[in-house]
Amino acid sequence: MAKIKKCTSCNKEVVENYVEFKCPSCDKEVIRRCEKCRKLASSYTCPKCGFTGP
Ligand SMILES: [Zn+2]
Ligand SMILES: [Zn+2]
Repeated sequence: MAKIKKCTSCNKEVVENYVEFKCPSCDKEVIRRCEKCRKLASSYTCPKCGFTGP
């Protein structure tokens, strides 16, 4: 079973047009944002260190 990738902001499954980057704070957790959240500039919270960013 394939692991489902979810948007860190809205928690919805991401398929394409999403971005992935390491948390700028702890540099360990991967943050994922779907196209919608990118456009809306929704904030995300790192599940590891609690860092919140735009
Ligand atoms: Zn999203
Ligand atoms: Zn972090």
